Amino acid sequence: MPASNTYDAILIGGGPAGSCAGAILAEYGHRVLILEREKFPRFHIGESLIPFTYEPLKRIGMIPKMKKSNFVKKYSVAFVRPEGKSSTPFYFHTRYDKDTIAQTWQVLRSEFDQMMLDNAREKGAEVKEEVTVTELIRENGKVVGVQTKNKDGSTAEYRAPITLDCTGKEAWSATRQGWRMRDPYLNKVAVWTYYKGSKREPGIDEGQTMVAYLEDKGWFWHIPQHNDMVSVGVVAEGKYLTRGGVKDPKEIFHREVQQNNWIKEHLSVGESTGVW
Ligand SMILES: Cc1cc2nc3c(=O)[nH]c(=O)nc-3n(C[C@H](O)[C@H](O)[C@H](O)COP(=O)(O)OP(=O)(O)OC[C@H]3O[C@@H](n4cnc5c(N)ncnc54)[C@H](O)[C@@H]3O)c2cc1C
Repeated sequence: MPASNTYDAILIGGGPAGSCAGAILAEYGHRVLILEREKFPRFHIGESLIPFTYEPLKRIGMIPKMKKSNFVKKYSVAFVRPEGKSSTPFYFHTRYDKDTIAQTWQVLRSEFDQMMLDNAREKGAEVKEEVTVTELIRENGKVVGVQTKNKDGSTAEYRAPITLDCTGKEAWSATRQGWRMRDPYLNKVAVWTYYKGSKREPGIDEGQTMVAYLEDKGWFWHIPQHNDMVSVGVVAEGKYLTRGGVKDPKEIFHREVQQNNWIKEHLSVGESTGVW
């Protein structure tokens, strides 16, 4: 194994978890390798930060970058009944006395994740993109590194005393070990899209996350972003969303929009830019 392929820590995945862990380990002077399957910027869902991300973001030096970014400021969250009545907004400053967590951001993950990965690089982490981890290398029952495959099909091995799985929802190594267990209460499916030019709340509420309910069935998220875009999606059990044999996500989405008057009204102007 060439010395250049040995590290103090290998991180599988360059999303927020990988880039955060990478930044901190590198700051402590460790030789860190982040292996990321995709080429950033890449699409990802999960755009509404919660106020308590402030301290971790501060810890890795991201706050000045967040303040300079175009991300919409989020001061509150509100809840909407199916008939369209909205709750009083829950402003973070009314509950949390620290100014720092009175406001957070609605991010576009392609931009945010790129900023986070670049931040890890700046702290000294080495990042290899378009490299997929294919196997864990084990010796005497311990994980001592990983095997990878590059975009061109070539393979490589990297070794370190510590490997962190930062593959998010995929939980790459836990899934391969058969350790994943389904929680029947979390058996939900999401269908979402992005609207341009749709209605948003005025003033301080512009960046408010709205959680809009479907009667006993599920809910919508409505997350205003910069560039006049809104991320909007519906979450419910698959059985409910595909009722009547409807499988087309676009059809499902537009049918559910009719089930909540606030969502219906806010999307009555503007244009959907695609449904996944
Ligand atoms: C529908 C939906 C809505 C959500 N909304 C929100 C929200 O509003 N706010 C919020 O805070 N969170 C939200 N989340 C959760 C959020 O998306 C995740 O918590 C977050 O992305 C986790 O970050 P991560 O770094 O752990 O994983 P990820 O961001 O998923 O990053 C994992 C990375 O690992 C890489 N990878 C995977 N396998 C390999 C491999 N074998 N080799 C190399 N690289 C690999 C992937 O390419 C990826 O870049 C939502 C999730 C879903 C599903």
